[in-house]
Amino acid sequence: MPEPRSARRSAAVVPRHGRPVRRGGLAALRFGPFALVLASVVGTGAGMGTAVALGPGGLPAAGPVAAVRTSETVESPVSAAADPRPTSSSSPDVVDGAGLSPSSDTASTAPGALRLPEGEDLPRLPAPLEPVTPPVDDGLMASDRAAGLLSAEVPASATGTLVVVPGASEAPVPERPVQTVRVEVEEGLPVDGEVFARTVLEILNDPRGWGADGSVSFARTDAEDADLRVALASPALTDQMCAPLETVGLYSCGAYGYAVLNFLRWSTATEEFADRTQYREYLVNHEVGHLLGHGHEDCPGEGEVAPLMQQQTVVVAPCVPNGWPFPDAG
Ligand SMILES: [Zn+2]
Repeated sequence: MPEPRSARRSAAVVPRHGRPVRRGGLAALRFGPFALVLASVVGTGAGMGTAVALGPGGLPAAGPVAAVRTSETVESPVSAAADPRPTSSSSPDVVDGAGLSPSSDTASTAPGALRLPEGEDLPRLPAPLEPVTPPVDDGLMASDRAAGLLSAEVPASATGTLVVVPGASEAPVPERPVQTVRVEVEEGLPVDGEVFARTVLEILNDPRGWGADGSVSFARTDAEDADLRVALASPALTDQMCAPLETVGLYSCGAYGYAVLNFLRWSTATEEFADRTQYREYLVNHEVGHLLGHGHEDCPGEGEVAPLMQQQTVVVAPCVPNGWPFPDAG
């Protein structure tokens, strides 16, 4: 039986974040008891009120700190106890390490300055782990996002209002007859219109596309006078736009100057295609093919590549799926 979601999340996240660690805090924690003993010994022997005690590795462990030697470290508490010397009277606030005389390279004359020991003597603390944001499993694949999808949900209807995706791009082969394309998306669909529009134009201008015979190159426009329009519409709006063609919430159409792509199909494709990207190529090219004057074709025979204008959304067999008007070009 699976654990509750909250339990799984907490088990997964807590170790990744690790413990919040402050250097001083851990050093004090690690050397605290030892440092207290040492401070007490030094304080007693030297008769001084304020002391800096060094733990192993030379870290200041307790008490107000003015300066710490950098080149030498305390060997053990035993030597400190055996040779507790008073510190220089010129720097009453500094104890320069038990058993050691003040050194000229320390900042013992500058009360308030603190030097930490250098190099290998520093205790090594584990580097804090980067917090990791687990990927959101929203059911979308990279290819879905590349097609402009922002969610795996497919609403049966949205606002019913088409919005023009702003932007324009030149026809890649302007020497050919140019068809201008305006891309529109129904408001309220979980779609990045710009990503969708770019995908549509990339498909149309692919070397295997309608321009492979030299007859056309597609430019994108957001102007009113576009030659043809590609719209991504909810099943409900698709039915309205395609009527009296019967798309029954399931199919798309190319009619009345619009290639109407049913959002249900753009999102989920069809079982006839194993690859959603291939199906999206088919959908754009097939519906735009109608606008260019092409009618439906039949599968020519078992195992053959399906003609683009075959109604492959419904059934591909006995042909194999194909999304291009000129699949062997390019
Ligand atoms: Zn068709």
